Amino acid sequence: MTRLCVAIYVKSVEQARRDMALAAEAGADLVELRVDEFPAASGAALKALLKESIIPAIVTCRPIWEGGQSELEDEDRAIVLESAVRSGARFVDIELKALKQSEVALDEIVENAMDGDSAQVIVSSHDFTGRPEKLYNILTDLDSCGGDINKIVWTARTVRDNIEVFEALKTRQKPTIALCMGEAGLISRVLAKKFGAFLTFASLETDSGTAPGQISIADMKQLYRWDEINATTSVYGVVASPVKHSMSPAIHNAAFEKIGFDGVYLPMLVEPSYESFKAFMEMFLGFKPLHLSGLSVTLPHKENALRYLTEKHADVEELAKRIGAVNTIAISPEGELQGINTDYAAIVDSITAKLNCTRAALAEKRIAVIGAGGTGRTAVAALASCGATVVVYNRTKERADALAEEFNGKSGQVVSARMEKLCDSCCHVFINTTSVGMHPNVNESPLDGQDVKFTPETVVFDTIYNPMKTKLLQQAEAAGAKTIGGVEMFVRQAAGQFKLWTGREAPVDVMRRVIESRLAAK
Ligand code: NAP
Repeated sequence: MTRLCVAIYVKSVEQARRDMALAAEAGADLVELRVDEFPAASGAALKALLKESIIPAIVTCRPIWEGGQSELEDEDRAIVLESAVRSGARFVDIELKALKQSEVALDEIVENAMDGDSAQVIVSSHDFTGRPEKLYNILTDLDSCGGDINKIVWTARTVRDNIEVFEALKTRQKPTIALCMGEAGLISRVLAKKFGAFLTFASLETDSGTAPGQISIADMKQLYRWDEINATTSVYGVVASPVKHSMSPAIHNAAFEKIGFDGVYLPMLVEPSYESFKAFMEMFLGFKPLHLSGLSVTLPHKENALRYLTEKHADVEELAKRIGAVNTIAISPEGELQGINTDYAAIVDSITAKLNCTRAALAEKRIAVIGAGGTGRTAVAALASCGATVVVYNRTKERADALAEEFNGKSGQVVSARMEKLCDSCCHVFINTTSVGMHPNVNESPLDGQDVKFTPETVVFDTIYNPMKTKLLQQAEAAGAKTIGGVEMFVRQAAGQFKLWTGREAPVDVMRRVIESRLAAK
């Protein structure tokens, strides 16, 4: 069983006592007490803390030279750890480097702890700058030193470093803790359980961790469904750069939870180049024990996904090819790849649901698409394919012209027009695909400077979801028009992905609730 360990940086007895109780209450199996700067670490205070703890504790006194704060000499740190063992610590953590450089004192702790069978020794190695050059030598040294549990941690240079962590866990000789720090290393923290690590670390609160990239225990348990993860859990993720603020993990994991699906969905930070995307795909697809089963692909990788799938002669949906972007990849257990674009269906279906009409009925509609970027292009391609008459408006008129020329006649009519003429058009539907009005510029609207001429029959669709009600939507509401917010599109594109991966209808109400509550909390 992989333990969930809350790391607590001890500043005072009172704070540590409170944090240990909170960790236990939150469902931690272990706590790690970092006593680097706790002056009473070798005294009665630590003994009292350990005695009171209702869950087992690791005691660590990390020196500055290994990323900690302790200024003590190795011999003095040995006294702290020895005292911790005598006081009831179930585990103490000693750096591999310390064992090598001060053989006498620290070796004694290892021996004492093992003789008495009262505590186990974690021997650790950390690299805060990146992957250690001699990774495999360190793993060999850890195996041959006298400790009970190996710990190897480094800062992920890219998301691909996680695969070496998983390999280290799969080939372990002893109980092992292997993790990558930093944003790109997040998946190693969550999937530690899938690969049978001895433990993973979590923080008590978001941003209160003792190492870069630690996830809070609440997120580990609720957002990433720690308790459900097992060796055969299917892995999904969102590939993006940046990825930190993506809401996709929250909505997909909540949807998996709702239908009891054995999957976990993670943020995967992949640098913005085709080479990085390709290297990520090759490495993650090549590591079969990961059970990588599906990916959402977003900025800046939608075009890269199409290029990669095309190079691999994978099955790619025709309209995704025409749009030039894939936002969803499904991976079969045999490794077959399929690429689709759920954004376009989300746009079309958001409109048909509001108009209560079929896709074919859009052929009777005149639709204004504001913006000629990625989302504008998707909207134009999708609506033109339904036979609608589309008018493209864009700040840079040439981009609107080019888009109109490309999609005109496939199968609807597509023309471009000047932004200043937007409110003069007699369109049934207006879609904003620009970022105008997006947080933090919430007082802006693409209609600024123009007379709003919406009627109660007009549908105004803003693809922006933060804020949920943009200035454009407020203007539309004031004119009595029907409105569609960006959350609708977001939920529908995610629901399309969910259906492709699971073969089941998505619990859209759950998805909507999750995204709305996250946006409301912002
Ligand atoms: P993009 O490719 O960068 O395109 C941005 C578009 O916005 C371009 O047409 C650009 O015009 C226009 N624009 C930017 N700043 C402007 C300004 N100050 N005044 C006038 N026009 C401006 O971006 P994208 O990927 O298409 O994303 C656009 C929006 O779509 C985002 O804001 C996002 O909220 C929304 N979106 C929503 C969802 C969803 O699920 N709800 C999904 C994807 C995207 P120029 O050509 O003149 O630069």
